[in-house]
Amino acid sequence: MQLVWHRNQYWLHVTVEKPALQKVRGDVTAAIDPGEVHTATITDGKEALVVSGRLLRTLHRLRNKVLRKFQKAISKTHKGSNRRRKLLAAKYRFLNNIERRIEHTMHTISATVARWCLVRNVKTVYIGNPDGVQKKDCGRKHNQRVSQWAFGKLRELLEYKLKRHGIELVPVDERGTSGTCPVCGEYTKQTGRVYRCGNTSCGFTGIHRDVLGASGILDKCVNGGFTRGRKLPAAVDYLRPQVLAPKRAA
Ligand SMILES: [Zn+2]
Repeated sequence: MQLVWHRNQYWLHVTVEKPALQKVRGDVTAAIDPGEVHTATITDGKEALVVSGRLLRTLHRLRNKVLRKFQKAISKTHKGSNRRRKLLAAKYRFLNNIERRIEHTMHTISATVARWCLVRNVKTVYIGNPDGVQKKDCGRKHNQRVSQWAFGKLRELLEYKLKRHGIELVPVDERGTSGTCPVCGEYTKQTGRVYRCGNTSCGFTGIHRDVLGASGILDKCVNGGFTRGRKLPAAVDYLRPQVLAPKRAA
């Protein structure tokens, strides 16, 4: 055990020995469609899990909003003043708190996804790379940076957690996966959360857009392209990560 001084406060580092990790048996393939509204949607072709991104977005927004307030207040103080010292300490306390909560949420999400894979004997997971999509995003630059950082961090955590069970995470190009119709194969740009095929002679609809996206990534990676009339995940579960820490901003 170690007592460590970090960011204006003491941290207790504890080393614990954990039981040996269960290794994956079987060689099922799955795919993940990452996103803003839904942090991750995973499918093995039969079932799907949709993880809500609401909590992560709320925490990111809160972090940026409060941080801006701190910066503004700090900029009005004199260098070396008591007021500035107090504000800086409060800022670090806040950052510690909120960043731990963001990290905790990401750990919860990646652990849930890893467990999901383990019980379904998933050996390989393809994950869509949204970089291309996000660059085209017209949202505010700041939000974009945060989400890119969050996506990178989440992928890192996921890769680490999966690897411990002997599961491989493979990044792939996800272009076209959430817009290509699983029935007729035509591409339609999507605007809503429920998929709608724009081909009037087809008109397929009724599946969650991100579930279709994950299913499309899986299809592309396993079969080398989109299969017309492919089977879609029949069972869809939803996970909404909850706040465990008290709602204290600073
Ligand atoms: Zn169609």
